Amino acid sequence: MRDTLNLGLIDFLKASPTPFHATASLVQRLEAAGYQRLDERERWSTTPGGRYYLTRNDSSLIAIRLGKESPVTQGLRLVGAHTDSPCLRVKPQPELQRQGFLQLGVEVYGGALLAPWFDRDLSIAGRVTFRQDGRVASQLVDFQVPIAIIPNLAIHLNRAANEGWAINAQNELPPILAQVDGSERFDFRALLTEQLAKEHGVNADVVLDYELSFYDTQPAAVIGLNGDFIAGARLDNLLSCFAGLQALLRAEGDETCVLVCTDHEEVGSSSACGADGPLLEQTLQRLLPEGDDYVRAIQRSLLISADNAHGVHPNYADKHDGNHGPKLNAGPVIKVNSNQRYATNSETGGFFRHLCLAEEVPVQSFVVRSDMGCGSTIGPITASRLGVRTVDIGVPTFAMHSIRELAGSHDLAHLVKVLGAFYAARALP
Ligand SMILES: [Zn+2]
Repeated sequence: MRDTLNLGLIDFLKASPTPFHATASLVQRLEAAGYQRLDERERWSTTPGGRYYLTRNDSSLIAIRLGKESPVTQGLRLVGAHTDSPCLRVKPQPELQRQGFLQLGVEVYGGALLAPWFDRDLSIAGRVTFRQDGRVASQLVDFQVPIAIIPNLAIHLNRAANEGWAINAQNELPPILAQVDGSERFDFRALLTEQLAKEHGVNADVVLDYELSFYDTQPAAVIGLNGDFIAGARLDNLLSCFAGLQALLRAEGDETCVLVCTDHEEVGSSSACGADGPLLEQTLQRLLPEGDDYVRAIQRSLLISADNAHGVHPNYADKHDGNHGPKLNAGPVIKVNSNQRYATNSETGGFFRHLCLAEEVPVQSFVVRSDMGCGSTIGPITASRLGVRTVDIGVPTFAMHSIRELAGSHDLAHLVKVLGAFYAARALP
């Protein structure tokens, strides 16, 4: 099962260079498993035992398997993750011509580790909005092949490069796409019009707008002398989206199960489709009974918020508390922070540990060093919005927010197993 899951994750990552593509990848897999689309603009008619999904902004998704048992007495089993990752976004008027090179201006999305973006074979993907026959429409595009690069400056010209070098995002990040002689003005939107025709057979009158980002074309891979690792872009947090999906598709049982994968976590989750927006609440209000029964259902529910954790790195072990250094391939990590940067409490953390013990899945704990600040994730945000009991967990990784992150090749299977047991759990605490 481990190898099948890892290969499935590698395919999923390749098909998901942006949150839009990640959502489309999830949709494709859900529809193949018989899940039906719910349109947020229409009236819904759902039946117990039915399988449904909805998307918002093409970049956030909720999948629901309605239980045969009432969620008012049984509660919901929710798993949350996020579809976005730090990256370089193409600016609205991006064309630059300098020193005979065609470049595109970029904006940094989220807390990207910038140095690894240099010297990589980059492509572009995202959503394009255009006009065709007087109507406004959107399509996802993915150039797929390497069309750009951000070359480093030679060390001979920057002797301080290995002694801590600040990267100026405005000046140093525009990727190079081509050499040009300056006789013709390059129009990025014309290139997008061509791509729409090539990829979708669409004859757009004009490209109106877009949300496009650069990504690394090197596919994810299982690596290491003994295949101990999986290296790839966007493991934070597409690994958790994929694990949640696999657990949902495999889950047996009569309880109501929900997978919620939202965009914009890397920039704080405050958006119409983000975890700090009303998406999940509005969806549950439409699916659950009103009033007392709505609150009863929520209070019987539990959310596992899955987002990657920091494994202890052999070259930087002092960045972890000596007693809390999660190891790669040693199972999911329960994340604890008494200042509520994580939503875990003793009951929710204890229940997750109980699930791991019952499934014979190894489990670890993380708390940040007391002299360092702590990151956060969708767990506390969703818990605050919904009032639902929550545990924050995640697979230990290295190089979080790099263009190429690293996880253990055994940990995806661990996570799928325990999330599957959660979805199938007869009783919640
Ligand atoms: Zn994350």
